[in-house]
Amino acid sequence: EPRRNHPVVPSAATTFAPDVVEKAVELEDFEKLAKDLENASPLEIMDKALEKYGNDIAIAFSGAEDVALIEYAHLTGRPYRVFSLDTGRLNPETYKFFDTVEKHYNIRIEYMFPDSVEVQALVRTKGLFSFYEDGHQECCRVRKKVPVVQVDPVFEGMDGGSGSLVKWNPVANVGGNDVWTFLRTMDVPVNSLHGQGYVSIGCEPCTRAVLPGQHEREGRWWWEDAKAKECGLHKGNIKEEIHGMENLLK
Ligand code: SF4
Repeated sequence: EPRRNHPVVPSAATTFAPDVVEKAVELEDFEKLAKDLENASPLEIMDKALEKYGNDIAIAFSGAEDVALIEYAHLTGRPYRVFSLDTGRLNPETYKFFDTVEKHYNIRIEYMFPDSVEVQALVRTKGLFSFYEDGHQECCRVRKKVPVVQVDPVFEGMDGGSGSLVKWNPVANVGGNDVWTFLRTMDVPVNSLHGQGYVSIGCEPCTRAVLPGQHEREGRWWWEDAKAKECGLHKGNIKEEIHGMENLLK
């Protein structure tokens, strides 16, 4: 019997794949939803998500162009929640942007922080920049896993197949240029790092601007092999994905 908890896993990916909402649902519900929303617009998908789950769900906001999701939620006229993962290592511009977004939409972002004991242990043992020496996986695991544990402790034990994770991606069918057109049209505030050549926005020590024509991943964990450039958050914690919804949302 799947649990009725609704684990919330913020996306650490900085490609435009914002994970709006995650909630455990019955597979049948999910397949029906996928069919119903097959050709829906981002606004319609967001509206349906908020109508169906209300405050049981929250928009994962990374501080990048996924602000579009907040604009969509705002446009529905429904109440909505937003959360952000503060790893403690974000760019100053991103913190300022969070504040700007809170004021612009008159909302409070639900910040989530890593476990201080775990961060202390890592930093006291290996220093502040261990990721440059032995890879980003450990630091990402420590700094990005906590919301999963806080929101749903059982989620860690998904090896036993105790639940299903559903992500909604209302803008998954929208191209990057269209997102930017939308943001400009709606006069949505954006992170000033975008104007400095940042395509990917994440932790300050692990993210840099890229030149035109460079792949955005050149701006992230550039000192590591390409094959290691996968976010620590997604590697271990998400055991089960339901492909029906993936298809809907991609
Ligand atoms: Fe640590 Fe870098 Fe991962 Fe941020 S992106 S959690 S600083 S390794």
